[in-house]
Amino acid sequence: MGSSKLLSLLVTLYLLAPTSISSDVSLSPEELTQIPVKFLDFAKKPEIFYWMVNIRRKIHENPELGFQEFETSKLIRAELDQMGIPYKFPVAVTGVVGYIGTGQPPFVALRADMDALAMEESVEWEHKSKVPGKMHACGHDAHVAMLLGAAKMLQVFRHEIKVLKCRLFCIFMNETAISKLLRVKTCLGTIVLVFQPAEEGGGGAKKMLDAGALENVEAIFGLHVSSLFPVGTVASRPGPTLAAGGFFEAVINGKGGHAAIPQHTIDPIVAASNVIVSLQHLVSREADPLDSQVLTVAKFEGGGAFNIIPDSVTIGGTFRAFSKESIIQLKQRIEEVVMKQASVQRCNATVTFDDKSFYPVTVNNKNLHEHFQKVAGDMLGIQNIKENRPLMGTEDFSFFAEAIPGYFYYLGMNDETKGKFETGHSPYFRVNEDALPYGAVLHASLATRSSTIAPFSSPCRESDDIAVDNCKNKKDEQKIKARSWRLRWMTCFSVKKSKPKGKGKDKDRDKSSTSVTSSPIHDSCYSAMNSYYRDENLKAVISYCRNSQGLGNQK
Ligand SMILES: [Zn+2]
Ligand SMILES: [Zn+2]
Repeated sequence: MGSSKLLSLLVTLYLLAPTSISSDVSLSPEELTQIPVKFLDFAKKPEIFYWMVNIRRKIHENPELGFQEFETSKLIRAELDQMGIPYKFPVAVTGVVGYIGTGQPPFVALRADMDALAMEESVEWEHKSKVPGKMHACGHDAHVAMLLGAAKMLQVFRHEIKVLKCRLFCIFMNETAISKLLRVKTCLGTIVLVFQPAEEGGGGAKKMLDAGALENVEAIFGLHVSSLFPVGTVASRPGPTLAAGGFFEAVINGKGGHAAIPQHTIDPIVAASNVIVSLQHLVSREADPLDSQVLTVAKFEGGGAFNIIPDSVTIGGTFRAFSKESIIQLKQRIEEVVMKQASVQRCNATVTFDDKSFYPVTVNNKNLHEHFQKVAGDMLGIQNIKENRPLMGTEDFSFFAEAIPGYFYYLGMNDETKGKFETGHSPYFRVNEDALPYGAVLHASLATRSSTIAPFSSPCRESDDIAVDNCKNKKDEQKIKARSWRLRWMTCFSVKKSKPKGKGKDKDRDKSSTSVTSSPIHDSCYSAMNSYYRDENLKAVISYCRNSQGLGNQK
């Protein structure tokens, strides 16, 4: 996107703010719980449902591999244009980042991956892949359709998302104070739609991050269709949910020759075989049995005739673990074992790791987990929120969740009355399109109801100095700033709440003495907040706080 386009995007966002979203109507907690229900009615309307289905089928017919999603990206942009949603493009080659709201904080992101797999589709149906050797066998076509569905909903119900901004103020206040603030016209936020390329081994999420797609974003949600859970259910867990993993390849070089005269050769096939057996000892003999790890050699290439010992053998595979320490240790040991074991058989070896395909552990933020349970529970009933076991699979959503608080969950799509739904990456993989409304609504509801999420992730959310040190270690200045801003507000409100000594039971005097305007600490809050945000809307909220007599007296 050129700078003129970016400028026009910013202008559009600015212009959108006062006209399209502001509203005096505040949302009560009951109304908040009704958001997913209202959204679901909307998403199940035939015109909305089939619009999503058609988008998904169009993408399915024309699958594109990582960083080649040009037509998919074009289709997404055309739909966003039709909805009047501004976006940035290109981000990481084919990526699109859309914005719904004011362009003001807080920013909450929703993510969909767009890429297909290099495999032949074996499902015979009307909308089968039209591209030989490429197939949407992981459901990313459905992910795009659902995020566009969420975008449509958020545009239609955009007055609801005004609550986003308020959450920054709500954390430390009682309910009455919150509902007062909810009436402030400036309670506006922004939902960021992240359509990313190349999830399947290309690390598209990392490229999106590097391109600034999550700038200022405080939380991100992603989903994946799953045939392991019935349609109308979801599954997730807090903390580590998917493994870290990467790929390696090793070339073991010997000296080829006649298979009947092995003494004149250095046989790389025997050496490679010993390497593979030794590699299997890394998980079984070196790793803690309670720390799940996998090392699989899935590739073995060498030789082409029954009577020739080849010069070299290439092996390759994948390694997985659930912690940074374990994955680093495993990687280091793979290299050592390959090199040293090959040398036992007089061979040389080289090992390469594909950094592009190295994904960190996907860790679900605990606060977002609580938020997810509330929102999904209101929509589907708490009995339909399943807890899934951690999986050894990888997801490049992990890059997002490593950078900011993230949450990744599975959207059930199994329905036995519709035949067997194969798991992802099968040539017989099918998507149960009945799941589309649920995914779209969850996206939209999670973003809209983010007013209940604590704003800053751990470690910065922790209220101790160690947490600040952790942040410093991460050189995450923004979080430190945010935390100090938050602490000042806490001080501010605790001062307001404490009754001054010697004021007795005189209510009027109590009110004036607890008024925020009389407190020098409040002034420091005021300036801290101003310097953090520097925007007129926020100043309006602050002055609302300052003028709210007795705000701190409410229970
Ligand atoms: Zn996949
Ligand atoms: Zn996938």
